[in-house]
Amino acid sequence: MQIIYKVFALALLLGVLSPLNSQNQEPAPCGTRIGVSPWLRDFQNRIHSSSRTDDVLYLPLQVHMVGTDQGTGYMSTKAVFQAFCTLNEDFAQANIQFFLANPINYIDNSGYYQHEFDGGYDMMAQNNFPNVINCYIVEDPAGNCGYFFPGVDGIALAKGCTGPNDHTWAHEVGHFLSLPHPFYGWEGETHNYSSPAPLSWEGWQVEKVDGSNCTNAGDGFCDTAPDYLNYRWNCNADGFSSTVQTDPNGATFVSDGTLYMSYSNAACKSTFSDDQIAAMRANIEEVRTNLITLPPAVEDITISAQDEINLLVPASGVLAEGDPVTLTWEAIPGATHYIVQVNPFNFFSIIFEEQIVEGPSIQISGLQPNRTHYWRIKPFNWYNTCSDFTSSSSFETGITTATQERLPGESFQISPNPSSTGQVSLRIQTTTNTLANWQLIDSRGSLQQTGSFQTSTGTQEQVLDISGLPAGLYFIQLQLDGRQSVHKLMVN
Ligand SMILES: [Zn+2]
Repeated sequence: MQIIYKVFALALLLGVLSPLNSQNQEPAPCGTRIGVSPWLRDFQNRIHSSSRTDDVLYLPLQVHMVGTDQGTGYMSTKAVFQAFCTLNEDFAQANIQFFLANPINYIDNSGYYQHEFDGGYDMMAQNNFPNVINCYIVEDPAGNCGYFFPGVDGIALAKGCTGPNDHTWAHEVGHFLSLPHPFYGWEGETHNYSSPAPLSWEGWQVEKVDGSNCTNAGDGFCDTAPDYLNYRWNCNADGFSSTVQTDPNGATFVSDGTLYMSYSNAACKSTFSDDQIAAMRANIEEVRTNLITLPPAVEDITISAQDEINLLVPASGVLAEGDPVTLTWEAIPGATHYIVQVNPFNFFSIIFEEQIVEGPSIQISGLQPNRTHYWRIKPFNWYNTCSDFTSSSSFETGITTATQERLPGESFQISPNPSSTGQVSLRIQTTTNTLANWQLIDSRGSLQQTGSFQTSTGTQEQVLDISGLPAGLYFIQLQLDGRQSVHKLMVN
């Protein structure tokens, strides 16, 4: 029997995948065009005779967080950890788990942040770590939600397609571990789905409903049903497409949107097929043997959002004095690291101070004196990033804490405060010419107003219209030359 397969070529990826979407359009679901590789073809021929272990396979993964040249635009650590947690949940059915091989690698490069495929190639060629799955989180990966680039062996993901309920990451890692799309062959083809499909596209057979050519068509897996839908589509409650398709024999069918490797919406997706799982596991054990390592020696973490932090230093009733302030808490079993957030208000939709620390202690500079601070932590280790933040608890700073991040001669006043006049003035005295940015935040943490103005040596005044604001407590966060301070405003 003649073996027919489409060989992936770099030129194909670089040359054929246009036109790219412009920024205003929805990203394309995926930019990967891998077909049934010779290895996968061979494996599919022996899939039912191959023995299969059920051991959990642990694979090292490297997150590269890409921002602009100015170091802005990064996805938050919390959001990346949620997405990584989802990736591990998606692969739990395959007994494949990923762990963060190293701390997140930050890359400031606007040309990578929004890139075309050639920029993505450079990004991976320049920054890949050896013997890990390299994943780059960017703003725009060549107009797609994500892609796997076989030639340079890296994955690019769009921030906007890497939310806690998205499965782009699992889809692209599926490609990394040899899986084609179930509609393989249809990428880039246009077709009137109410008409019977052709027998083949560019030499690759179109899969028939009766299963007669399942090993030579589509993705080559016989337990993934025919699927011709090469665009993002929504599913019904049972996970199937509403678009009825017609195979070359005239038989009609709908597509299975539960497969991670399909182009269905994120909410439809929940599974890899048994044969897809067998192929990914065999690919690790036969091809990607450099990834096989012992699992990290850490226990699991169980913590819920109701749990509080048990603060050891400062002890109960003792002020947190000095600058920097040191906080030490009772270690959480299984945690090797913590994300710590500290705010001068009791909400966390806006973060005043965030650090990742190894071990249960942190030093924080620049806290405001004489005030209550609220803080919470999220424990994690390199393969479990799923735990919640704890609920917040508080501590008081003493009078010897550093004054707000402010230069000598600087001052900031809000008047009147409390205010019932519909207006307040911000009066800033500075010794520098700089841009002052301010944000007005309500007590639930929602941004109400924002603005900026130029300062010069002396006193400047900025008048805010607050006539539309309901009575209550507000905060004005001021940023001046990279320094920031937070001030209360009462509206009566
Ligand atoms: Zn894909």
